[in-house]
Amino acid sequence: MNLEGEPRRFCRKCLLREMESEYFESLQNYIRNLDEDLKVEPEVYEERLAKCQSCDQLLSGMCRLCGCYVELRAVMRKNSCPKVRAEWSRIA
Ligand code: SF4
Repeated sequence: MNLEGEPRRFCRKCLLREMESEYFESLQNYIRNLDEDLKVEPEVYEERLAKCQSCDQLLSGMCRLCGCYVELRAVMRKNSCPKVRAEWSRIA
């Protein structure tokens, strides 16, 4: 089977923003419109996403433990990583 030229349908270590994804723009618009008080600071967001990118549970921008797109899960202060030994924690 020749897959040359075929778009990649999934990626183990990619966020949506790194893939050609129709969901990315609407997800970003949704995140942009969230109340700032609900969101973490940009540095915290990037730290969380970096941990997701090195996690074996990430698949095509989605966490396989919780089914969330990590770019949305990680932006919310109240959220934490669903692993038993969480990679990142909620911020009170
Ligand atoms: S939320 Fe936690 S378990 Fe899920 S991909 Fe990110 S680091 Fe991994």
